Amino acid sequence: MSQSRLQLDEDRRSCWVCFATEEDDRTAAWVRPCRCRGTTKWVHQTCLQRWVDEKQKGNSTVKVACPQCNTEYLILFPKLGPIVYVMDIIDKVIFKMCPFVAGGIFIGTVYWTMVTYGAVTVMQVLGHKEGLNVMEQADPLFLLIGLPTIPLMLVLGKMVRWEDYVLKVWRKHSSKLPLINYLFPDEHSRLSRVPADTVTLTDPISATRVLCGALIMPTIATIVGKLMFGLVQSNFQRTLLGGFAFIAIKGVMKIYYKQQQYLRQANRVICDYGEPQNSSAPVTSDSPVNQ
Ligand SMILES: [Zn+2]
Ligand SMILES: [Zn+2]
Repeated sequence: MSQSRLQLDEDRRSCWVCFATEEDDRTAAWVRPCRCRGTTKWVHQTCLQRWVDEKQKGNSTVKVACPQCNTEYLILFPKLGPIVYVMDIIDKVIFKMCPFVAGGIFIGTVYWTMVTYGAVTVMQVLGHKEGLNVMEQADPLFLLIGLPTIPLMLVLGKMVRWEDYVLKVWRKHSSKLPLINYLFPDEHSRLSRVPADTVTLTDPISATRVLCGALIMPTIATIVGKLMFGLVQSNFQRTLLGGFAFIAIKGVMKIYYKQQQYLRQANRVICDYGEPQNSSAPVTSDSPVNQ
């Protein structure tokens, strides 16, 4: 019985979705929608419709293919009336356009925010009256390009990690400079390993940090300028000096902090289990690895 059944598989209709045969339901409509042979050749029209619905998840434009032979199913719709046809086209055009319109609105919003920020910064740096004067006299086109460039430049400037570069050069050459060796004694001889690099710019948290740091920079520069260079008459020069002073002081502190963190990482020790915690790292007499 089973032998003859196998031979008859080609002609015997059996639905690959519900496994029912012709004998089980004599009224059901059959379809062979793809290149498949054998047991997956035939399928019920209603079963395949359900399968297509499941694959499309409500979006009738999604193409569905046979899971076995990958043939794309040919789905034929009844002819549309002219009104519905036009409405269908309009619907599709609107559907396709919306992402671009939304993107445009978003870019426009960001742009005008940048222009506003630039204008506020100009007034902050030059002083309220002088800033307004400058912007009134400037070419509008120049303002529309120049003002949004201000926050852009601040962010790009903030992305330059000059402290890291200074540190790298320093770590490379510090052993050759006797003065620095004197200030930070014995650093290289204690370094038992090179620690892995830590934070990178791809981290989203540090990206927001770059953004915040960049945008608050003019305010900090104004404050530092007023505190340290109160005698300078020109608002612009005072703010510029304040900005550079702040960047320099912060840079030195950051370099010091990073170098200390680096040394901590380099000199860490993994303890034996059960050994009492000892906060100071033991000084090894071995020769350092990185020289
Ligand atoms: Zn079926
Ligand atoms: Zn197939």
